[in-house]
Amino acid sequence: MTDQPPPARRLALVLGDQLSFELASLRGLDPRQDAVLLAEVREEVTRVPYHPKKIALIFSAMRHFAEALRRRGFRVHYVTLDDPDNCGSLPGELVRWADRLRAGEVHLTECGDWRLEQSLRHCGLPLVWHADTRFLCGRAEFARWAADRQPLRMEFFYREMRRKSGLLLDADGAPLGGGWNYDGQGRKPLPAGVEAPMAVRFAPDVITREVLALVGSQFAGHPGVLDGFDYPVSHGEAQALWQHFLDFALPAFGDYQDAMASGEPFLFHARIGAALNIGLLDLRRLCADVEEACRSGRVSLGVAEGFIRQLIGWREYVRGIYWLQMPDYATRNAFGNRRPLPAFYWTGQTRMNCLRQTIGQTLKHAYAHHIQRLMVTGNFALLAGIAPRQVCDWYLAMYLDAFDWAALPNTLGMAMHADGGYLASKPSCASGQYIRRMSDYCASCAYRVSESTGEQACPFNALYWHFLMRHRRQLEANPRLGMVYRTLARMPETRQQALWRRGEDLLARLAAEDGL
Ligand SMILES: Cc1cc2nc3c(=O)[nH]c(=O)nc-3n(C[C@H](O)[C@H](O)[C@H](O)COP(=O)(O)OP(=O)(O)OC[C@H]3O[C@@H](n4cnc5c(N)ncnc54)[C@H](O)[C@@H]3O)c2cc1C
Ligand code: SF4
Repeated sequence: MTDQPPPARRLALVLGDQLSFELASLRGLDPRQDAVLLAEVREEVTRVPYHPKKIALIFSAMRHFAEALRRRGFRVHYVTLDDPDNCGSLPGELVRWADRLRAGEVHLTECGDWRLEQSLRHCGLPLVWHADTRFLCGRAEFARWAADRQPLRMEFFYREMRRKSGLLLDADGAPLGGGWNYDGQGRKPLPAGVEAPMAVRFAPDVITREVLALVGSQFAGHPGVLDGFDYPVSHGEAQALWQHFLDFALPAFGDYQDAMASGEPFLFHARIGAALNIGLLDLRRLCADVEEACRSGRVSLGVAEGFIRQLIGWREYVRGIYWLQMPDYATRNAFGNRRPLPAFYWTGQTRMNCLRQTIGQTLKHAYAHHIQRLMVTGNFALLAGIAPRQVCDWYLAMYLDAFDWAALPNTLGMAMHADGGYLASKPSCASGQYIRRMSDYCASCAYRVSESTGEQACPFNALYWHFLMRHRRQLEANPRLGMVYRTLARMPETRQQALWRRGEDLLARLAAEDGL
């Protein structure tokens, strides 16, 4: 243990996903007598086998934030992962530092993870908690909105958030253009000849290089590629990423947000999820920029509305559901799925090209866009009846932007429908035809998307019908699946049996050595 540091009147703990100067627990801090604590702890980076790029991003961004706070005059105590005194857990480090600094008060901002918040709340110190005001909708506010509504639907919540924020409203408070939602527009596959903008890259500086060396040596066994780390790690870099998106990708975002293309991991997506979730970007500022781009005629109303809906609609909605439903939500398994996650999710080694492409780019960049997550990896896990807990852990481990409040409802609720339809009105299940329509993956796949039975047939096709037959009792009454079940009913019995047999065969082969 080094020399005794001077005491602190107030100690504020800042977590790795709270790197915002506006953080509620940092407000009112007096640099002359207060202190800030940041700690890299093993417990938080080994709970699931996190992608090494994700660990590097968090540690590097934390170190840059600590430097930026120091430049602003704050006294910062920073515990590195390899500090011999580091006890390895956040509650442990908080207690150790509160004691060392003889802190009069300990301040924290609400966590993004129920488990971590519980363990901090029970660390034995009296704590002063602050709401996470980086979000538009507080936990209690969401609970009030949800109280007299069943079922919950994102669209109505989103309208509330539009009214609350005043975004894209006219002077009378009506939605600009007369509609709340222009979702029907766009959603095209990528046509030949349309090229996505070049991805902006950020070369690692000295701090990031040190972190990359640490992560490379400590987490070599984690799945995912560390080489080629180029993600923004400071507020300035994150702003440059955002500006690049506004200038070059936003105008086409609406049209191609559902498109998938080989060798194009980012297309017209913003790639801001991680920077926003860890505090390097500010939600209100992003929305204001998009609104400004719309009002000045640089992007269409449909594009601006669609993007703002992602930010103040879906993003806030999934967070609201998380805090309303935890801890039970994490254990939901409406279909009773038990099958283990196929090994190829960790390696990308499968003959199914859509999965190989999506998992391959995930291992390389710790990134896949929404439709790849929902309609390729999520869809397959849903159709194959994989245990939701294992699927959720995979998403949490793999994606740069994955934090429990966002990863869990998106995976368990939206992709796996394991909450029985609490978050979304229908399961996001689809045959290979959807993937064929929205991507170029099928053209170079070992399987034939036009076939449903037979050795070469696309596995998604038979698994889709197998899923619908398997869960007929639970799903048949869902009005959004009515047409699909009518199609199934019209199929000759022999065809239904053949699809069922092919589905059974595929599921049996999932665990086999040569797999799918
Ligand atoms: C199975 C599954 C798991 C997901 N896990 C996460 C996660 O752990 N963390 C996460 O932030 N997003 C998650 N998402 C939502 C979405 O896929 C990512 O936010 C998005 O891909 C991030 O990339 P981007 O910044 O390029 O997004 P863009 O496509 O450019 O979208 C812009 C922004 O909108 C917000 N957004 C859009 N949809 C959602 C949503 N459903 N939930 C939360 N934010 C949303 C994000 O902040 C995103 O950065 C998940 C989606 C699915 C289907
Ligand atoms: S044929 Fe089927 S498995 Fe192959 S890429 Fe298309 S959807 Fe995926």
